[in-house]
Amino acid sequence: MESTRILLEAHEIPTHWYNMAADLPAPPSPPLLPDGSPARPEHLAAIFPPAIIEQEMSSERWIEIPHEVREIFRLWRPSPLVRAVRLEEALGTPAKIFFKYEGVSPAGSHKPNSAVPQAFYNHQAGVRRLTTETGAGQWGSSLALAGQMFGLEVRIYMVKVSYEQKPYRRLMMQTWGAEVFSSPSSLTESGRKILAETPDTFGSLGIAISEAVEEAAARADTNYTLGSVLNHVVMHQSIIGLEAKKQFDKIGLYPDIVIAPCGGGSSFGGIAFPFLGDKAAGDKRAEKLRAIAVEPSSCPSLTKGRYTYDFGDASGFTPLMKMYTLGHDFVPAGIHAGGLRYHGASQFVSQLFDAGLIEAVAIPQLATFDAGVRFARCEGIIPAPEACHAIRVAIDEALKCKASGEEKVILFNLTGHGHFDMSSFERYFSGKLEDYEYPAEEVEKSLAKLPKFG
Ligand SMILES: *Cc1c(COP(=O)(O)O)cnc(C)c1O
Repeated sequence: MESTRILLEAHEIPTHWYNMAADLPAPPSPPLLPDGSPARPEHLAAIFPPAIIEQEMSSERWIEIPHEVREIFRLWRPSPLVRAVRLEEALGTPAKIFFKYEGVSPAGSHKPNSAVPQAFYNHQAGVRRLTTETGAGQWGSSLALAGQMFGLEVRIYMVKVSYEQKPYRRLMMQTWGAEVFSSPSSLTESGRKILAETPDTFGSLGIAISEAVEEAAARADTNYTLGSVLNHVVMHQSIIGLEAKKQFDKIGLYPDIVIAPCGGGSSFGGIAFPFLGDKAAGDKRAEKLRAIAVEPSSCPSLTKGRYTYDFGDASGFTPLMKMYTLGHDFVPAGIHAGGLRYHGASQFVSQLFDAGLIEAVAIPQLATFDAGVRFARCEGIIPAPEACHAIRVAIDEALKCKASGEEKVILFNLTGHGHFDMSSFERYFSGKLEDYEYPAEEVEKSLAKLPKFG
């Protein structure tokens, strides 16, 4: 009997991250200040340590993973690559479906892959405290875990809808020693302003980012960390795709289609970019590779957004980045895939999408849960609602193969388990989970407020 799990040894944990900046079709557009002038490293120094700023702006193809970071990674990495044989059988597809399972980390998702190096570089730079935002609680719990490993204090602004829906995520963060506040909070100027305007708001990642950045910028001993979107975060996540490549090498296969959910874009970039790097290098196996980013219909940044300069947060504290955006103050519906409720998307993901080098699809909430439950009943693992987006498209692609008879190799990023999302599954089973229409009018309103130059 063949094993369905393709495993690596600890010494096979990659030694370098892959940086997509080296292989983009054109140089990336620089981040800008609100007046339209380019943001320079010193503008970021109030909230990030030097090593992170360097990575954010680097176009080196390979960047070494510090020894201290790899040592911590050994707690759960290399993560397994699994062939979903029972799902293939249930679908009756000739396709081979693989998933890279990132739910094996202590926090239950891919996010510690970036939380650990971010905590390390801040500790190395003598920083004592970290602030951050969290949507579903996945990033907050990852940073709480990582901060605690390097003796850093961690303060987390948690989007209100998740704070209320996910008390156990909050308790995980507290178990790892972090302080957690519901956002918008009355602790910051940005939070108080939004509470005064819209006291009933669900909160959003953009608002929580404003609060965390405001606090970090105001205190010398405190830095800010972000769980997705920025170039250095996407690069840290490349460890997922780099390991997957080694695992496919072991079995002599190569994926035809790579699929991931897309919130800020780090889990998509993390699994897809190392393969797109092969394609850029002219690797024959990657010639026809398709990479598909999957977003929720209620927050469709890539498929319905505009490709332009916008702020990364709701209040306009961050530099402007050229990305697909729904407008920085757009507040998406309170869907259960909290990690996908972000108005924009990674610059590199945006640039590749604009250049037609990757694909994107938007899926309504119910269809993602249908797929997630089907997957759980075949493969056992209960997926996070975010990961259900990738599963939906993996199943759809496998069914296309069934119709055409093609034996494609499909890889998707199973970004996390859903053990703390069971109340979402409860709503799904009781028929209370709803689909939301694409909020065209709200997006128009928000896009009308895009920053203008000159
Ligand atoms: C945060 C999160 C995502 C979204 O990741 P991005 O890198 O922001 O696109 C997907 N799945 C899980 C489980 C997450 O926690």
